[in-house]
Amino acid sequence: MRTITLIVLHCSATRIDRPYTFRQCREDHRQRGWKDIGYHYYITRDGQVHEGRPLWQVGAHCKGQNQHSIGICYEGGINLFDEPADTRTRAQRQSLRALLTRLHDQFPGAIIMGHRDLSPDLDGNGRIDPDEWMKQCPCFDAIIEYEDLQPEGLLEGDD
Ligand SMILES: [Zn+2]
Repeated sequence: MRTITLIVLHCSATRIDRPYTFRQCREDHRQRGWKDIGYHYYITRDGQVHEGRPLWQVGAHCKGQNQHSIGICYEGGINLFDEPADTRTRAQRQSLRALLTRLHDQFPGAIIMGHRDLSPDLDGNGRIDPDEWMKQCPCFDAIIEYEDLQPEGLLEGDD
């Protein structure tokens, strides 16, 4: 197995009223010339967790971070007004938390982050501020939402 230091969360950046299935996503990624879907897991609006690449395989979801990370994507991320939004259904939230709990047990040292948290820190203040986000993906604050599943000590001294 690879060394895993990061779990990166993504949205498919598709509108909530336009289904974007696991199969479609896989097909689109293959069209780009990739050998398979870029993510390790894909969670559709019904909460189903679809397995993409096996965990031992390097994914294709976050430039510069693929070697040592796991990529998880949920279907959605764009609301009816074409704006980036946390469109996760209750079923998606439940499945995502269950999946992350399992992964945290397996890789207790891995930090859970959103794709946007891996944007460059342009002003060098040690934080990735909203105006530095290259994209909104995954449209929610993953570091805080999954605080209880972060490696021990990660957020210490933060209060
Ligand atoms: Zn992303």
